[in-house]
Amino acid sequence: MTVPRTALIILLILVMGPLPGCTGRREGAFLAMGGIPVKVVAHDRSRTSFANDLSAVESYVSSMEDVFSTYRKNSGISAINSVGKGCSEDVSPALIDILKRARHWSEASDGAFDVTVGPLIDLWRKAAKEGTLPSAHDSTRARSRIGMRHVMIRGNDVCLERENMRLDLGGIAKGAILDGAAQLLRRDSVARGLVEAGGDVAAFGTGTFTIGIQNPRAGRQAALLGVLAIDEGGVVTSGDYERYVVIEGKQYSHIIDPRTGIPVKGLVSVTVVGPNATDADALATAISVLGRTKGIELIKSLKDYKAIIVERDADDSFTVWHSKELTDALSLHGRWRKRTRTF
Ligand code: AMP
Ligand code: MG
Repeated sequence: MTVPRTALIILLILVMGPLPGCTGRREGAFLAMGGIPVKVVAHDRSRTSFANDLSAVESYVSSMEDVFSTYRKNSGISAINSVGKGCSEDVSPALIDILKRARHWSEASDGAFDVTVGPLIDLWRKAAKEGTLPSAHDSTRARSRIGMRHVMIRGNDVCLERENMRLDLGGIAKGAILDGAAQLLRRDSVARGLVEAGGDVAAFGTGTFTIGIQNPRAGRQAALLGVLAIDEGGVVTSGDYERYVVIEGKQYSHIIDPRTGIPVKGLVSVTVVGPNATDADALATAISVLGRTKGIELIKSLKDYKAIIVERDADDSFTVWHSKELTDALSLHGRWRKRTRTF
């Protein structure tokens, strides 16, 4: 029996797998930003090009942590914070850009989102370490050092107008890094792909992307609340399940209302879908602070943004509130389907 040559070649490819020069959907990951997996997906890439994409994204993420992370002592943001009251000159353009976005969302959310929240973050971290709630006196003192209106941006200079102010970009930096990584891939001629970190996503290119929405109660049931089909853009979730501290037996969110000085209660998770991950990140944090009613008001006032809000009900079950424009795109799993409301 003679086997046709083409069949032999196909068989060889199946056995050996695609050649290094062949293009296809590629996926890889690395750990960053405090040990979370960062996943990179690129379509129509050869194995060699994708290896380069992945290492370029990894270097980029680390370089941005050197700018944005308050956990890195020598970062750009730590340098501004170490000045205390006063000006830092020649601040990197990436830092100027993110501070301008942060100011925009601070104003749009009436101060619910505010990256000057650092003194309150420190106060609650210290409280968690010591196991006692912060005193009213310490809370008032911390709050006197908060407010985006005390941050001046002039050209490439950033000035803090009060003593002991501390900027914390934790509510917006991950989104900005995801957007930057997606842009980098685009510049390297990846036509379609995504970058994901801890469930937050920046996707780019034509066609639909299916994004898993994190289940705020994972562990007790399936790891996803559902899936969302979106065009390119950002999907970012803030949740009380992610990071929190326990003081005197009670759980406190890592998101703090800058206006009251108290960690937020109420919403279990907020997912924002929009044209980019930076703004979606800031908005998800802002809505977590604003609560359901004011949060919905804010999202409805913004044409390009949609949200999914999970709220804990009095009977300890949950209601999933979502923008009506997401009805067709969102497919909820299991019991999350039981109580849904649209806005
Ligand atoms: P996210 O997980 O994006 O909601 O961001 C939460 C992080 O943002 C916290 O860990 C803090 O670093 C920071 N943060 C907390 N409260 C606020 C707030 N009201 N505005 C801006 N950033 C905040
Ligand atoms: Mg955020």
